[in-house]
Amino acid sequence: MKEFDYIILGGGCAGLSLAYELDIKKKLNDKTLAIVETRDEYKRDKTWSFWKVTDHNFDDCVIKSWNNFSINSKLGSHEIINKEYPYQTIDSGLFYKKVLNEIKQNKNIQFFKNTDQINLDNSFIFNSIPSKGDYQANLWQHFKGIEIETQKDIFDDEIFNLMDFDCDQRDNVHFFYTLPFSKNKALIETTWLSKMDDKTLTDYDVQLEKYIKETLKIKNYKINYQEEGAIPLFYPLINSEKNRINIGSAGGMTRLSTGYTFLNIQNHSKYITNNIEKIQKTKAYHIGKKYEMFKASSKTVIKFLSNKSNIFEDLGIILKMPKWMFIKNIF
Ligand SMILES: Cc1cc2nc3c(=O)[nH]c(=O)nc-3n(C[C@H](O)[C@H](O)[C@H](O)COP(=O)(O)OP(=O)(O)OC[C@H]3O[C@@H](n4cnc5c(N)ncnc54)[C@H](O)[C@@H]3O)c2cc1C
Repeated sequence: MKEFDYIILGGGCAGLSLAYELDIKKKLNDKTLAIVETRDEYKRDKTWSFWKVTDHNFDDCVIKSWNNFSINSKLGSHEIINKEYPYQTIDSGLFYKKVLNEIKQNKNIQFFKNTDQINLDNSFIFNSIPSKGDYQANLWQHFKGIEIETQKDIFDDEIFNLMDFDCDQRDNVHFFYTLPFSKNKALIETTWLSKMDDKTLTDYDVQLEKYIKETLKIKNYKINYQEEGAIPLFYPLINSEKNRINIGSAGGMTRLSTGYTFLNIQNHSKYITNNIEKIQKTKAYHIGKKYEMFKASSKTVIKFLSNKSNIFEDLGIILKMPKWMFIKNIF
Protein backbone atom coordinates (compact mmCIF):
# COMPACT_ATOMS: atom_id res chain seq x y z
CA MET A 1 0.00 0.00 0.00
CA LYS A 2 1.24 3.49 -0.89
CA GLU A 3 1.24 6.25 1.70
CA PHE A 4 0.66 9.96 1.02
CA ASP A 5 0.48 13.05 3.23
CA TYR A 6 -2.65 14.25 1.43
CA ILE A 7 -5.27 12.50 -0.69
CA ILE A 8 -7.78 14.31 -2.91
CA LEU A 9 -10.79 12.15 -3.79
CA GLY A 10 -12.25 13.35 -7.11
CA GLY A 11 -10.11 15.35 -9.55
CA GLY A 12 -12.83 17.67 -10.86
CA CYS A 13 -13.17 21.39 -10.30
CA ALA A 14 -12.58 21.38 -6.54
CA GLY A 15 -9.95 18.61 -6.46
CA LEU A 16 -7.86 20.15 -9.23
CA SER A 17 -8.29 23.71 -7.93
CA LEU A 18 -6.94 22.62 -4.56
CA ALA A 19 -4.06 20.63 -6.06
CA TYR A 20 -3.14 23.63 -8.22
CA GLU A 21 -3.21 26.07 -5.31
CA LEU A 22 -1.11 23.74 -3.10
CA ASP A 23 1.37 23.32 -5.94
CA ILE A 24 1.81 26.99 -6.85
CA LYS A 25 2.06 28.00 -3.18
CA LYS A 26 4.89 25.42 -2.88
CA LYS A 27 3.11 23.43 -0.16
CA LEU A 28 3.98 20.16 -1.90
CA ASN A 29 7.75 20.57 -2.03
CA ASP A 30 8.20 18.16 0.87
CA LYS A 31 4.70 16.62 1.07
CA THR A 32 3.07 14.02 -1.16
CA LEU A 33 -0.39 14.11 -2.72
CA ALA A 34 -2.50 11.42 -4.40
CA ILE A 35 -5.42 12.44 -6.61
CA VAL A 36 -8.03 9.72 -7.11
CA GLU A 37 -10.11 10.27 -10.23
CA THR A 38 -12.10 7.78 -12.30
CA ARG A 39 -12.30 9.62 -15.61
CA ASP A 40 -10.09 8.45 -18.50
CA GLU A 41 -9.75 11.79 -20.22
CA TYR A 42 -10.30 15.44 -19.46
CA LYS A 43 -12.28 17.45 -21.98
CA ARG A 44 -14.71 20.37 -21.85
CA ASP A 45 -17.75 19.15 -19.89
CA LYS A 46 -18.88 22.30 -18.09
CA THR A 47 -19.02 26.03 -18.63
CA TRP A 48 -18.40 27.86 -15.36
CA SER A 49 -19.74 31.40 -15.12
CA PHE A 50 -19.76 33.78 -12.18
CA TRP A 51 -19.35 37.41 -11.15
CA LYS A 52 -15.72 38.03 -10.45
CA VAL A 53 -16.14 39.44 -6.95
CA THR A 54 -12.76 38.04 -5.84
CA ASP A 55 -9.56 37.19 -7.70
CA HIS A 56 -8.86 33.64 -8.85
CA ASN A 57 -6.10 31.72 -10.65
CA PHE A 58 -7.91 31.14 -13.93
CA ASP A 59 -8.28 34.47 -15.76
CA ASP A 60 -6.46 32.91 -18.71
CA CYS A 61 -9.22 30.26 -19.05
CA VAL A 62 -11.94 32.92 -19.38
CA ILE A 63 -13.51 32.77 -22.84
CA LYS A 64 -15.77 35.80 -22.44
CA SER A 65 -16.55 38.49 -19.93
CA TRP A 66 -19.48 40.98 -19.79
CA ASN A 67 -20.33 44.16 -17.91
CA ASN A 68 -23.99 44.23 -18.90
CA PHE A 69 -26.78 41.80 -18.30
CA SER A 70 -30.55 41.63 -18.65
CA ILE A 71 -33.36 39.88 -16.81
CA ASN A 72 -36.67 39.23 -18.59
CA SER A 73 -40.09 38.57 -17.16
CA LYS A 74 -43.61 38.76 -18.59
CA LEU A 75 -43.47 42.49 -17.78
CA GLY A 76 -40.51 43.12 -20.10
CA SER A 77 -36.73 43.25 -20.09
CA HIS A 78 -34.60 44.97 -17.47
CA GLU A 79 -31.02 45.85 -18.46
CA ILE A 80 -28.34 46.26 -15.82
CA ILE A 81 -24.89 47.74 -16.33
CA ASN A 82 -22.13 46.84 -13.95
CA LYS A 83 -18.56 47.88 -14.48
CA GLU A 84 -17.27 46.83 -11.09
CA TYR A 85 -17.77 43.07 -11.20
CA PRO A 86 -17.42 41.51 -14.65
CA TYR A 87 -19.35 38.30 -15.30
CA GLN A 88 -16.84 35.74 -16.53
CA THR A 89 -17.20 32.42 -18.32
CA ILE A 90 -14.57 29.71 -18.03
CA ASP A 91 -14.25 26.79 -20.45
CA SER A 92 -13.61 23.74 -18.25
CA GLY A 93 -11.46 22.23 -21.04
CA LEU A 94 -8.99 25.12 -20.72
CA PHE A 95 -9.08 24.86 -16.93
CA TYR A 96 -8.25 21.12 -16.95
CA LYS A 97 -5.42 21.68 -19.44
CA LYS A 98 -3.86 24.49 -17.42
CA VAL A 99 -4.03 22.63 -14.09
CA LEU A 100 -2.79 19.30 -15.49
CA ASN A 101 0.14 20.97 -17.31
CA GLU A 102 1.22 22.51 -14.01
CA ILE A 103 0.70 19.67 -11.55
CA LYS A 104 2.02 16.86 -13.78
CA GLN A 105 5.46 18.48 -13.41
CA ASN A 106 5.38 17.96 -9.67
CA LYS A 107 6.89 14.56 -8.77
CA ASN A 108 5.14 14.62 -5.40
CA ILE A 109 1.69 14.42 -7.05
CA GLN A 110 0.37 11.09 -8.36
CA PHE A 111 -2.92 10.18 -10.04
CA PHE A 112 -4.88 6.97 -9.30
CA LYS A 113 -8.10 5.54 -10.74
CA ASN A 114 -9.26 4.15 -7.40
CA THR A 115 -8.10 3.78 -3.79
CA ASP A 116 -7.12 0.07 -4.02
CA GLN A 117 -3.39 0.71 -3.77
CA ILE A 118 -3.55 3.60 -1.30
CA ASN A 119 -3.53 3.55 2.47
CA LEU A 120 -6.24 6.01 3.52
CA ASP A 121 -5.65 5.68 7.26
CA ASN A 122 -2.67 7.94 7.84
CA SER A 123 -3.36 10.70 5.30
CA PHE A 124 -5.37 13.91 5.39
CA ILE A 125 -8.24 13.50 2.93
CA PHE A 126 -9.98 16.16 0.83
CA ASN A 127 -13.14 14.59 -0.54
CA SER A 128 -15.15 15.95 -3.48
CA ILE A 129 -17.12 12.79 -4.25
CA PRO A 130 -20.77 13.38 -3.37
CA SER A 131 -22.26 10.93 -0.88
CA LYS A 132 -24.86 8.58 -2.27
CA GLY A 133 -28.34 9.11 -0.93
CA ASP A 134 -31.92 9.57 -1.96
CA TYR A 135 -32.20 13.32 -2.50
CA GLN A 136 -34.87 13.23 -5.24
CA ALA A 137 -37.38 15.10 -3.09
CA ASN A 138 -34.91 17.94 -2.35
CA LEU A 139 -34.64 21.14 -4.41
CA TRP A 140 -32.24 21.08 -7.37
CA GLN A 141 -31.20 23.42 -10.12
CA HIS A 142 -31.22 21.19 -13.20
CA PHE A 143 -30.49 22.26 -16.71
CA LYS A 144 -29.28 21.57 -20.20
CA GLY A 145 -27.23 24.01 -22.24
CA ILE A 146 -26.27 23.97 -25.91
CA GLU A 147 -23.68 26.13 -27.61
CA ILE A 148 -25.13 27.09 -30.96
CA GLU A 149 -23.52 28.71 -33.99
CA THR A 150 -25.47 30.70 -36.54
CA GLN A 151 -24.47 31.62 -40.10
CA LYS A 152 -25.42 35.27 -39.70
CA ASP A 153 -24.43 37.64 -36.89
CA ILE A 154 -27.46 37.56 -34.59
CA PHE A 155 -26.35 38.12 -31.01
CA ASP A 156 -25.36 41.29 -29.20
CA ASP A 157 -22.25 39.96 -27.44
CA GLU A 158 -21.96 43.04 -25.19
CA ILE A 159 -24.83 41.89 -22.97
CA PHE A 160 -25.87 38.48 -21.63
CA ASN A 161 -29.29 37.38 -20.47
CA LEU A 162 -29.08 36.09 -16.90
CA MET A 163 -32.65 34.90 -16.64
CA ASP A 164 -35.61 34.94 -18.99
CA PHE A 165 -38.66 33.97 -16.95
CA ASP A 166 -41.05 34.67 -19.81
CA CYS A 167 -41.57 30.97 -20.49
CA ASP A 168 -43.60 27.94 -19.44
CA GLN A 169 -43.28 27.55 -15.64
CA ARG A 170 -45.24 24.29 -15.14
CA ASP A 171 -45.78 25.17 -11.44
CA ASN A 172 -42.02 25.34 -10.77
CA VAL A 173 -39.37 28.01 -11.37
CA HIS A 174 -38.08 27.98 -14.95
CA PHE A 175 -35.88 30.34 -16.93
CA PHE A 176 -33.63 30.45 -19.95
CA TYR A 177 -30.07 31.77 -19.79
CA THR A 178 -28.18 33.06 -22.83
CA LEU A 179 -24.44 33.75 -22.95
CA PRO A 180 -23.42 35.25 -26.32
CA PHE A 181 -19.72 34.40 -26.72
CA SER A 182 -19.63 36.22 -30.08
CA LYS A 183 -22.10 37.64 -32.58
CA ASN A 184 -22.82 34.16 -33.98
CA LYS A 185 -22.12 31.85 -31.05
CA ALA A 186 -24.02 31.52 -27.76
CA LEU A 187 -24.64 29.08 -24.95
CA ILE A 188 -28.36 28.78 -24.31
CA GLU A 189 -29.59 26.95 -21.23
CA THR A 190 -32.98 25.86 -20.00
CA THR A 191 -32.91 25.85 -16.19
CA TRP A 192 -35.39 24.57 -13.65
CA LEU A 193 -35.55 24.90 -9.88
CA SER A 194 -37.53 21.85 -8.81
CA LYS A 195 -37.45 18.47 -7.15
CA MET A 196 -35.92 15.71 -9.24
CA ASP A 197 -38.79 13.26 -8.97
CA ASP A 198 -40.78 15.10 -11.68
CA LYS A 199 -39.46 13.73 -14.96
CA THR A 200 -41.91 15.79 -17.03
CA LEU A 201 -39.55 18.78 -16.82
CA THR A 202 -36.58 17.12 -18.49
CA ASP A 203 -37.68 17.40 -22.13
CA TYR A 204 -34.82 19.90 -22.36
CA ASP A 205 -34.23 19.49 -26.11
CA VAL A 206 -37.85 20.35 -26.92
CA GLN A 207 -37.71 23.39 -24.58
CA LEU A 208 -34.45 24.65 -26.12
CA GLU A 209 -35.60 24.24 -29.70
CA LYS A 210 -38.88 26.04 -29.02
CA TYR A 211 -37.11 28.90 -27.23
CA ILE A 212 -34.48 29.34 -29.94
CA LYS A 213 -37.01 29.24 -32.76
CA GLU A 214 -39.95 31.09 -31.21
CA THR A 215 -38.41 33.53 -28.71
CA LEU A 216 -34.95 34.20 -30.15
CA LYS A 217 -36.35 33.82 -33.70
CA ILE A 218 -33.35 31.85 -34.90
CA LYS A 219 -34.24 29.38 -37.64
CA ASN A 220 -30.88 28.00 -38.74
CA TYR A 221 -28.19 26.99 -36.32
CA LYS A 222 -25.83 24.15 -35.55
CA ILE A 223 -25.01 22.74 -32.13
CA ASN A 224 -21.28 22.76 -31.29
CA TYR A 225 -21.36 21.57 -27.69
CA GLN A 226 -23.82 20.50 -25.01
CA GLU A 227 -23.81 20.12 -21.23
CA GLU A 228 -26.35 18.90 -18.73
CA GLY A 229 -26.34 18.89 -14.97
CA ALA A 230 -28.12 19.07 -11.68
CA ILE A 231 -26.76 21.21 -8.87
CA PRO A 232 -28.05 20.44 -5.37
CA LEU A 233 -29.71 23.46 -3.76
CA PHE A 234 -29.39 21.95 -0.31
CA TYR A 235 -26.43 21.31 1.91
CA PRO A 236 -25.06 17.79 1.70
CA LEU A 237 -24.82 15.70 4.84
CA ILE A 238 -21.25 15.94 6.07
CA ASN A 239 -19.95 13.63 8.77
CA SER A 240 -17.18 15.46 10.55
CA GLU A 241 -14.01 13.39 10.74
CA LYS A 242 -10.65 14.37 12.18
CA ASN A 243 -8.63 13.62 9.05
CA ARG A 244 -11.11 14.60 6.34
CA ILE A 245 -12.56 17.77 4.80
CA ASN A 246 -15.22 17.76 2.11
CA ILE A 247 -14.63 20.15 -0.76
CA GLY A 248 -16.56 21.34 -3.82
CA SER A 249 -20.27 20.65 -4.12
CA ALA A 250 -19.85 17.79 -1.65
CA GLY A 251 -18.37 20.30 0.81
CA GLY A 252 -21.30 22.75 0.67
CA MET A 253 -19.60 25.24 -1.67
CA THR A 254 -22.74 25.82 -3.74
CA ARG A 255 -24.58 29.05 -3.15
CA LEU A 256 -28.09 27.77 -2.44
CA SER A 257 -30.77 28.74 -4.97
CA THR A 258 -28.36 30.35 -7.45
CA GLY A 259 -26.08 27.34 -7.90
CA TYR A 260 -22.90 29.46 -8.04
CA THR A 261 -20.03 27.28 -6.87
CA PHE A 262 -16.88 27.96 -8.91
CA LEU A 263 -15.62 31.01 -7.04
CA ASN A 264 -16.47 29.52 -3.64
CA ILE A 265 -14.36 26.51 -4.60
CA GLN A 266 -11.45 28.84 -5.43
CA ASN A 267 -11.76 30.67 -2.11
CA HIS A 268 -12.03 27.39 -0.20
CA SER A 269 -8.86 26.12 -1.94
CA LYS A 270 -7.01 29.28 -0.87
CA TYR A 271 -8.28 28.93 2.71
CA ILE A 272 -7.15 25.30 2.95
CA THR A 273 -3.76 26.09 1.40
CA ASN A 274 -3.15 29.02 3.78
CA ASN A 275 -3.88 26.74 6.73
CA ILE A 276 -2.47 23.46 5.42
CA GLU A 277 0.26 23.13 8.06
CA LYS A 278 -2.36 23.14 10.87
CA ILE A 279 -5.32 21.85 8.88
CA GLN A 280 -6.62 19.46 11.58
CA LYS A 281 -7.06 22.39 13.98
CA THR A 282 -8.41 24.87 11.44
CA LYS A 283 -12.03 26.04 11.67
CA ALA A 284 -14.27 24.71 8.88
CA TYR A 285 -14.82 27.11 6.00
CA HIS A 286 -18.41 28.16 5.32
CA ILE A 287 -19.94 30.33 2.64
CA GLY A 288 -22.70 32.77 3.68
CA LYS A 289 -26.08 31.12 4.05
CA LYS A 290 -28.61 33.74 3.06
CA TYR A 291 -31.91 34.16 1.27
CA GLU A 292 -32.49 34.99 -2.36
CA MET A 293 -32.85 37.37 -5.30
CA PHE A 294 -32.91 40.66 -7.16
CA LYS A 295 -34.36 44.06 -8.05
CA ALA A 296 -31.98 46.30 -6.18
CA SER A 297 -28.89 48.14 -7.43
CA SER A 298 -26.81 45.98 -9.75
CA LYS A 299 -23.80 46.04 -7.44
CA THR A 300 -25.91 44.93 -4.48
CA VAL A 301 -27.58 42.18 -6.50
CA ILE A 302 -24.24 40.83 -7.70
CA LYS A 303 -22.79 40.88 -4.20
CA PHE A 304 -25.93 39.11 -2.99
CA LEU A 305 -25.85 36.44 -5.73
CA SER A 306 -22.17 35.84 -4.98
CA ASN A 307 -22.55 35.77 -1.17
CA LYS A 308 -20.53 38.95 -0.61
CA SER A 309 -23.30 41.18 0.73
CA ASN A 310 -24.03 42.21 4.29
CA ILE A 311 -27.31 41.76 6.12
CA PHE A 312 -28.60 45.28 5.31
CA GLU A 313 -27.95 44.82 1.62
CA ASP A 314 -29.71 41.43 1.78
CA LEU A 315 -32.75 42.93 3.46
CA GLY A 316 -32.86 45.61 0.79
CA ILE A 317 -33.04 42.93 -1.86
CA ILE A 318 -35.57 40.73 -0.11
CA LEU A 319 -37.93 43.66 0.45
CA LYS A 320 -37.79 44.59 -3.23
CA MET A 321 -38.24 41.07 -4.48
CA PRO A 322 -41.47 39.74 -6.04
CA LYS A 323 -43.15 37.81 -3.25
CA TRP A 324 -43.96 34.71 -5.28
CA MET A 325 -40.35 34.25 -6.18
CA PHE A 326 -39.22 34.67 -2.59
CA ILE A 327 -41.74 32.12 -1.36
CA LYS A 328 -40.89 29.61 -4.09
CA ASN A 329 -37.19 29.93 -3.46
CA ILE A 330 -37.20 29.73 0.28
CA PHE A 331 -39.19 26.49 0.82
C1 LIG B 1 -22.88 21.20 -16.39
C2 LIG B 1 -22.61 22.05 -15.16
C3 LIG B 1 -22.46 23.44 -15.29
C4 LIG B 1 -22.17 24.24 -14.16
N1 LIG B 1 -22.05 25.59 -14.31
C5 LIG B 1 -21.71 26.35 -13.25
C6 LIG B 1 -21.53 27.75 -13.41
O1 LIG B 1 -21.75 28.30 -14.48
N2 LIG B 1 -21.09 28.48 -12.33
C7 LIG B 1 -20.86 27.88 -11.12
O2 LIG B 1 -20.44 28.57 -10.18
N3 LIG B 1 -21.09 26.57 -10.93
C8 LIG B 1 -21.51 25.79 -11.97
N4 LIG B 1 -21.71 24.45 -11.78
C9 LIG B 1 -21.63 23.91 -10.41
C10 LIG B 1 -20.19 23.56 -9.97
O3 LIG B 1 -19.32 24.65 -10.16
C11 LIG B 1 -19.64 22.38 -10.72
O4 LIG B 1 -20.48 21.27 -10.54
C12 LIG B 1 -18.23 22.01 -10.28
O5 LIG B 1 -17.71 21.12 -11.22
C13 LIG B 1 -18.22 21.39 -8.88
O6 LIG B 1 -16.94 20.93 -8.59
P1 LIG B 1 -16.71 19.58 -7.78
O7 LIG B 1 -15.26 19.37 -7.74
O8 LIG B 1 -17.48 19.62 -6.52
O9 LIG B 1 -17.39 18.45 -8.67
P2 LIG B 1 -16.84 17.86 -10.04
O10 LIG B 1 -16.21 18.93 -10.85
O11 LIG B 1 -17.99 17.10 -10.64
O12 LIG B 1 -15.69 16.85 -9.58
C14 LIG B 1 -15.94 15.63 -8.94
C15 LIG B 1 -14.98 14.63 -9.56
O13 LIG B 1 -15.07 13.39 -8.86
C16 LIG B 1 -14.93 12.33 -9.80
N5 LIG B 1 -15.51 11.14 -9.19
C17 LIG B 1 -16.81 10.84 -8.99
N6 LIG B 1 -16.94 9.66 -8.36
C18 LIG B 1 -15.68 9.20 -8.13
C19 LIG B 1 -15.15 8.04 -7.49
N7 LIG B 1 -15.95 7.13 -6.93
N8 LIG B 1 -13.81 7.90 -7.43
C20 LIG B 1 -12.99 8.84 -7.98
N9 LIG B 1 -13.43 9.96 -8.60
C21 LIG B 1 -14.77 10.14 -8.67
C22 LIG B 1 -15.66 12.84 -11.04
O14 LIG B 1 -15.25 12.17 -12.22
C23 LIG B 1 -15.27 14.33 -11.03
O15 LIG B 1 -14.12 14.57 -11.81
C24 LIG B 1 -22.03 23.63 -12.88
C25 LIG B 1 -22.25 22.26 -12.77
C26 LIG B 1 -22.53 21.48 -13.87
C27 LIG B 1 -22.77 20.00 -13.68
